[in-house]
Amino acid sequence: MRFCKKCLMPDTRPETLFNDEGVCQACLNSEKRQEIDWEKRGEELRKLCDKYRRDDGYYDCLIPVSGGKDSHFQVYMMKEEMNMNPLLITVGDPFTKSQAGVSNFRNLGDAFGCDHILYNISIPLFKKVTRTAFEEFGEPLKYLETAIYTVPFKMAIKLGIPLVVCGESEYQYGSSNKLIPTINDYISQRFRRIDLDFWLQKGIPLKELNAIVPPSGKEEPYVITLSYFKLWSSTKNLAIAKKYGFRDLHHEWKREGYIEDFEQIDSLGYLVHLWLKYPKFGFQRTSDIVSRRIRDGLLDLNEGKKLIRKNDPKLDQLSMDDFIELLGYTPKQFWDVVEKYWNREIFNKIDGIWKLKESVYEKFMKI
Ligand SMILES: [Zn+2]
Repeated sequence: MRFCKKCLMPDTRPETLFNDEGVCQACLNSEKRQEIDWEKRGEELRKLCDKYRRDDGYYDCLIPVSGGKDSHFQVYMMKEEMNMNPLLITVGDPFTKSQAGVSNFRNLGDAFGCDHILYNISIPLFKKVTRTAFEEFGEPLKYLETAIYTVPFKMAIKLGIPLVVCGESEYQYGSSNKLIPTINDYISQRFRRIDLDFWLQKGIPLKELNAIVPPSGKEEPYVITLSYFKLWSSTKNLAIAKKYGFRDLHHEWKREGYIEDFEQIDSLGYLVHLWLKYPKFGFQRTSDIVSRRIRDGLLDLNEGKKLIRKNDPKLDQLSMDDFIELLGYTPKQFWDVVEKYWNREIFNKIDGIWKLKESVYEKFMKI
C-alpha cells in the first residue's frame, strides 16, 4: 500500500491510476483543471441548454439528486442560471434519515420550485439484496448503487426527457484521464457489468429486479456531468446550497470518523457502506475528504496525515445501530461478517483488534 505523495490518496482505492512518480490521477487532473478556460465551458453549457430548453409545459431535463449540497448546486445551475425546466428524481434507501437530510430533500423542490419524484425500492427486496451484498462482497449497497444509475436513465427514456444532468464525474477521483461532457459510455459500461444472474441465483425473481434491469431501447437520453462545464468545488457548492436553504449536521450529529458535517449527511445506515472500505482497502471517508482538501490548497500534508490516522478507523455508532436494526443483525453477527473482510496484507490483529500494520504508515504516513 502506498499513498499519493501530493494528496495522500492510497493506491488501494479501486480503479485509481498512479503515475511513475507516485502521483495519483486525481492530482494530475486537478492540475489540468486550472488550465481550462471555464468561461468557454460555461458558454458550451449555455449552447447545450439552448438546444434542449422548452417552454411548452413539459420537462426539458432530468436531474438525479440525493438532496445534498451538490444536488442543490445542480438544480441551482439548471433552473436559476440556465432557465431550464427540470424534473428531479431521487432513488431512496429505507435507512433512518437525519433531520438535515429530511429538510434538504424537501428544500430542493421548495427552494427551486421543481417537481420531484422519489423512487423507493421495495423494503423487503432492499433488505434481502443489502444483506446478501454485505455478506458476500462487503458492499452492502451494491444493488442500490446500481439502481442509482439505472433508474434515472430508464425514467428519462420512459418520460421522453432527452437530457440527464449529473454532478461530478469519476474524473474528479482519478479513475479516468479523459474529460468529456457526457458519461453515456461510462453508464453503458456499468449496464454491461450488471450481473442479473447473480441475483436470480440468490432466489430473487426477475420480476422483482425492475430497478436494475438495464434499458433495452435505443432512444438514450444524453447524460452530462456539470463538473465538465463548471469548476467543481465543495466549498463553492456548499456556499450556494446554503444560500438556498441547505442545512448541515452541525447542530444534530457529530459523526465518528468524519471531519466535516456536510457530505453524505442524509442517511444513517448508509455510512456503514462507506466505512467498509476501511477493512478492505485501509482508508475511508477522512482520506477522501483530506485528499480533496489538499488538492484545493485548504490543508497541508502533515495535518492531513494526522486527521487520517485519527479518524479513518472509526465506524460511527449511530450509523452502525441503524444498519443492523434495519437488516436484522446483532452487533456480534455484524462483526462476524466484517471479520472476513480485513485485508491481511495491510492489517494485523493484535489482542483481538485489527490495526493497520506499522509498515504501512511508516514509509508514507510518518508525521
Ligand atoms: Zn493525489
